[in-house]
Amino acid sequence: MYIQDFIYHKPDSIHDASKILEQSENGMPLAGGTDLLVEVKKGIRKFSDLVSLSEIPELKIIDADTQNIYIGAGLTHNGLVYSELIKNKIPALSEAASKIGSEQVRNTGTVGGNLCTGASCADTAPILMAYDAQVELTSYQGKRTISLRKFIISHHKTDIKKNEIMTRIIIPKQKKSSGASFVKFGLREASSISVASSAVMIEFVSGVCKNVSIVIGACAPTPVISENANNLILGKTIDELTGNTGLIESIVAIASNDTIPIDDIRGSADYRRQLVKVLTKQALALAIERTKILN
Ligand SMILES: Cc1cc2nc3c(=O)[nH]c(=O)nc-3n(C[C@H](O)[C@H](O)[C@H](O)COP(=O)(O)OP(=O)(O)OC[C@H]3O[C@@H](n4cnc5c(N)ncnc54)[C@H](O)[C@@H]3O)c2cc1C
Repeated sequence: MYIQDFIYHKPDSIHDASKILEQSENGMPLAGGTDLLVEVKKGIRKFSDLVSLSEIPELKIIDADTQNIYIGAGLTHNGLVYSELIKNKIPALSEAASKIGSEQVRNTGTVGGNLCTGASCADTAPILMAYDAQVELTSYQGKRTISLRKFIISHHKTDIKKNEIMTRIIIPKQKKSSGASFVKFGLREASSISVASSAVMIEFVSGVCKNVSIVIGACAPTPVISENANNLILGKTIDELTGNTGLIESIVAIASNDTIPIDDIRGSADYRRQLVKVLTKQALALAIERTKILN
C-alpha cells in the first residue's frame, strides 16, 4: 500500500510549528512517529501536512524552579531515563520510561506523543497522573495549561484541540517525605505493552499518610485513580501500611474493584483484576520504602 501524499514540514521553533498547523487544512504534529507513522502507513489516518517537532530545541528542555519540574514534551523516553534531574527528583517517571518498548522505541518515541495518543496502556500516563502533572498546550493563538487527569478523556481521546501542540509537562516538586513508584506487567520482559500497571505516590507527615494517589493503567479506557483505595490509606501510619494486618489486602482489592478491564489478546478481565492486586501491592510497598529513603 502506498502512503497517502502529504507535505512534510520541519520547523525549528514552536512559533513556526504552530503557524504551519494554523494555516494547514488538515495538519498534524509528528514527534517520534512510533504511533503516528504506523497509522499513516496503514491508511488509518490521512493528513495534508505532517509537522515534525523533532528539530525544535524548546521541546527538549528539562528545567526546574522552586515549585515545579518542567519536561519538554519532545523528550524521548530515553531522555527521561538518562536525565540526572528526573532520576533524582522523580525517579518513578524515569522507571516508567525505561519500561517502554525497546531501545529503538525509547530512542525515538516521546513523552508528549505517549500522552497525546491517549492510549489506555500508555506507560507514562499513570505515574504522571499520580504526581498530579499538568500539561501545557500551545497554539498560534496562545497557551493553556490543564491537569493531565482531565486531559485524558477516554481511550485514544484527549482534550487536545486541532492545531495545539503539547509543549511541556509540569510536575509539582515532590515533598521530602513522599515516595512514588511505577510497576508494570507485560507478556515479555522487553518491548511489551502493559497488560496492567500501577503507579503510586504517597506522602507522610510525622509517620501518618497525608496524601496518596494510586493510578491503575491499562485496565479501563483511561488510567484509573482509585479514590476508594486512596481514602482507605489516608490517615494510616507507616506501621499500619507495612504491617501484616490484612489492610494491604483490602486496599489492593478495592483498587482492583475500581477498574473496568476488558478481555483482549493480552489477558482476560479477570486476569487483569488479579494483576492489579499484585502490582498495586508491589507499587505501594516500593513507594513507602522510598519515603523512608527520602526521610
Ligand atoms: C514496538 C513498539 C513498542 C511499544 N511499546 C510501548 C510500551 O511498552 N509502552 C507504551 O506506553 N507505549 C509503547 N509504544 C507506543 C509508542 O512508542 C509511544 O506511545 C510513544 O511514546 C509515542 O510517541 P511518539 O513521539 O512516537 O508519537 P507520534 O507517533 O509521533 O505521535 C502520536 C500522536 O501524538 C501526537 N503528538 C505527538 N507529540 C505531540 C505534541 N508534542 N503535541 C501534540 N501532539 C503530539 C501526534 O500528532 C499523534 O497523533 C510502543 C510502540 C511500538 C512501535
